[in-house]
Amino acid sequence: MTSKSKELDVSVKNMIIRLRNEGLTYRAIRVQLNISLFTVRSVVKKFKETGSTENKTRSGRPRIFSTREKRAIINKIPVIADLPVGNNFQDHCASFVPFTIDPQIPTVKQRLENPANIKEYIINRSGPLASAEFVNSLLFMNARPVAPNVDFPDYLLYFFEVPKEVPEKQAGLKPEIYKAIFGPYENSTMVLCMSQILQPKSRGTVRLKSTNPYDSPAIDPNYFENPQDRKIIVEGMKTCQKIIMSEPMKKIGAKPFETVAPGCEPFVRDPDKYFTCITKGAVLTINHQVGTAKMGDPRDPTTVVDPLLRVKGIKGLRVVDASIMPIVPSGNTNVPTIMVAEKAADIIKETIECPYYEYLY
Ligand SMILES: Cc1cc2nc3c(=O)[nH]c(=O)nc-3n(C[C@H](O)[C@H](O)[C@H](O)COP(=O)(O)OP(=O)(O)OC[C@H]3O[C@@H](n4cnc5c(N)ncnc54)[C@H](O)[C@@H]3O)c2cc1C
Repeated sequence: MTSKSKELDVSVKNMIIRLRNEGLTYRAIRVQLNISLFTVRSVVKKFKETGSTENKTRSGRPRIFSTREKRAIINKIPVIADLPVGNNFQDHCASFVPFTIDPQIPTVKQRLENPANIKEYIINRSGPLASAEFVNSLLFMNARPVAPNVDFPDYLLYFFEVPKEVPEKQAGLKPEIYKAIFGPYENSTMVLCMSQILQPKSRGTVRLKSTNPYDSPAIDPNYFENPQDRKIIVEGMKTCQKIIMSEPMKKIGAKPFETVAPGCEPFVRDPDKYFTCITKGAVLTINHQVGTAKMGDPRDPTTVVDPLLRVKGIKGLRVVDASIMPIVPSGNTNVPTIMVAEKAADIIKETIECPYYEYLY
């Protein structure tokens, strides 16, 4: 779909596969869109024929390209602006401490399906169905001592009940690890205390794997490159354990899992070492990836866009998304991304000349 306005073209459900330049000005004047399934197919076919990593050999089997060959393919993309796109990758990663609660307490599923709760939601918009996916408490905490006037947390704890599919399928655990830790508790009410770093010091990368715009990129989150990041998550896990073992939690029957993560058996009596060991096998993304088109002073060689979100060295092209954030916010990223978009809309309105329509006033 595209809008009919002359000043603004909005295009949705289209994949941008190329930016064209005009003469020597490198103005991003046209984007190539795949507007039909036919085009998608022909574009994919063309890329396959011209050297994507999915290229086939004569025998019909997929041809595996070496890193050197892949680099040669990527080098075929002409460089218009030499910018550090894909550097400065940051994300909120986490690890967890699982526990069970009193089986008499209704599970999330039971509460969601309870007719009284459904009625309460319909009439008052309150009750369990109004909860934020049952993430019932969040704690912003500090691993280090801070001055009394400093309010800058460095880890976040979430408490939420999980169906077994979350650790089994979404956490990326090896099946044998999942079985060893979660197996005996599959029929219990499982709750996770998740410890998430807020201001990671590690930086990862996002790189192209081929010239094919339909190929997924190679993301190297590089979690824990800086050992301090792991320490902060471990501090959070220790706080989880203290909370789980606290008196108020005992009242709801909270009990930490008795199962031990495979490979971490020698450390069970030392929380620092045991949780450190767990983070080596069980680390999750909270999906707050940012930073790969860093905004900032255009003279700074680590920036990709200037404070008006313009891509350096290319006219008519702005980046408006989470990638421009120079550092990841100490919280969720959706609302900050919407704020980036709101600000961008204001910037663009200030810089374009809109015709004056008398009949509107
Ligand atoms: C599973 C999950 C759960 C999350 N939960 C939360 C949460 O609870 N709270 C929170 O605050 N944040 C959450 N986030 C993070 C939040 O969704 C992101 O920070 C936010 O959506 C980032 O916005 P964005 O515009 O940068 O990217 P996106 O929202 O990813 O938008 C990018 C868009 O660009 C399109 N696109 C990509 N390439 C092309 C191309 N070549 N041509 C045309 N279009 C293209 C994509 O289809 C997509 O629509 C979650 C993220 C995930 C993945």
